[in-house]
Amino acid sequence: MPWVAHGRHNAGVTATTPGIAEPPPEQPTEDVRPASRVVVVGGGPGGYEAALVARRAGAEVTLVEQQGLGGAAVLTDVVPSKTLIATAEWMTIAERAPELGIRDGGVPDPTGTHPAHLVDLARVNARVVELAAAQSRDICARLESEGVRVLDGHGRLDGPQRVVVDRTDGGTETVDADVVLLATGATPRTLPEAMPDGERILTWTQLYDLTELPERLVVVGSGVTGAEFAGAYKALGAQVVLVSSRDRVLPGEDADAAELIEDVFRQRGMEVMSRSRAQSAVRTDDGVLVTLADGRTVEGSHCLMAVGSVPSTSGLGLETAGVRTTRTGHIEVDRVSRTSTRGVYAAGDCTGVLPLASVAAMQGRIAMAHALGDAVVPLDLQVVAANIFTAPEIATVGASQNSLEESGVRYRTSMLELARNPRAKMLGMHDGFVKLFAHATTGIVLGGVVVAPRAGELVFPITLAVAQRLTADDVAQSFTVYPSLSGSIAEVARTLHHTEVGSR
Ligand SMILES: Cc1cc2nc3c(=O)[nH]c(=O)nc-3n(C[C@H](O)[C@H](O)[C@H](O)COP(=O)(O)OP(=O)(O)OC[C@H]3O[C@@H](n4cnc5c(N)ncnc54)[C@H](O)[C@@H]3O)c2cc1C
Repeated sequence: MPWVAHGRHNAGVTATTPGIAEPPPEQPTEDVRPASRVVVVGGGPGGYEAALVARRAGAEVTLVEQQGLGGAAVLTDVVPSKTLIATAEWMTIAERAPELGIRDGGVPDPTGTHPAHLVDLARVNARVVELAAAQSRDICARLESEGVRVLDGHGRLDGPQRVVVDRTDGGTETVDADVVLLATGATPRTLPEAMPDGERILTWTQLYDLTELPERLVVVGSGVTGAEFAGAYKALGAQVVLVSSRDRVLPGEDADAAELIEDVFRQRGMEVMSRSRAQSAVRTDDGVLVTLADGRTVEGSHCLMAVGSVPSTSGLGLETAGVRTTRTGHIEVDRVSRTSTRGVYAAGDCTGVLPLASVAAMQGRIAMAHALGDAVVPLDLQVVAANIFTAPEIATVGASQNSLEESGVRYRTSMLELARNPRAKMLGMHDGFVKLFAHATTGIVLGGVVVAPRAGELVFPITLAVAQRLTADDVAQSFTVYPSLSGSIAEVARTLHHTEVGSR
């Protein structure tokens, strides 16, 4: 059974790893080794990390990329969004200035509104685009210096051991391979009744062309991408309406975390429309009109469609090579990234396993280790750490509370408000918490959630605990700096203390 596709969140991680552990039935078990010619199609994290691993293992490596090295991760998704969010984060921190005793210098600004800070979106986006391009150039230089042959163009399988490349500079080239890795990623899903025009109705890849802050941004979709952009644009100074078809934002994420973020969004003046399914978005004279399934309408100056992704797997020659896909078009893989065709591997968003850059890179590395006969540790979704870059951030690792409930595992949980942490008080941080899950008998840490500014950094001790099967007592007995936000992690572990600690 293939791994199922998930949205961009951690919700698919269950206490018992979903669906796949076994290779597809007709997959031969012997490795392809030694493999001297590796062709990687797609230069995102799934592809370029694998190319480097294969090269270091002595393979002759060709990487085919049609858009730019680093892939969507570097050019349109992770790097641009997190760079934009870095500016938004600064604005959020600046909001705490009065509480910390800082007052506005009173310098008049051209709008006459005297806000302490204003965002120049043209400059923000210019920085975003340049930073992404620089990272792409770095990756290109690294690959070339390691001896990877980079081919600009569109690649497709012509049978399992041959890739045909329609070169960007014209002409076609055929490359024979012992091993092929498909890492073609995904693109934004669009709705026929809300087709993006790149000006007013936008996908997230088109946001960086904006030179002025949208006056009123309607964000359709309250998953991770929708929530991150809604939060960021609110902090940058836009009015934001978040249209969510579900009961609450971030469906599938930890319920306490999602509830907290929704409350924070509302407190900051965002209009959150729950149980509101958008049916269409059309241009008006000076903006957009979004119509909901129940007939209500929402007006805005711009609309961001954040309604998921589709895997880039059509036109890849999968059928000719016998590579099986799921109903959603994702490539079926097992835990060592094998597809149903011998010698053909797949990694990243085109597999739909867990759409994170870190998971894509890991799948790619595992694929090459397996194909080239190196030691292989199959992918373990139980130890994946993920972060949602809202303000505050939501970081999760290991089993979620939902998955523990569903699996029937006996567990203990404890939660501590961030507002009780002395360092958080000093920094004027009010919203957030730390939550841990530990096995009821052994005390082994099964998972955790951190909701805090920079939660993505704070979650690492919990990741270590989950990965190394430490007990809550192990965490509780470790020193933390006083005062520190991480002190809350040790403190919440102390509340989970019990005497029946069993074997590790
Ligand atoms: C807005 C947004 C923010 C995100 N933020 C984060 C984050 O903070 N952290 C995180 O871990 N993940 C994040 N993600 C998810 C992350 O972007 C993806 O999981 C990651 O990009 C997957 O990497 P990949 O290598 O599979 O594919 P991609 O990065 O999509 O790269 C695939 C590459 O393959 C190329 N390609 C496709 N078909 C062909 C072909 N036939 N021939 C040649 N080349 C081809 C494409 O041009 C593309 O460059 C975010 C996603 C979005 C949408």
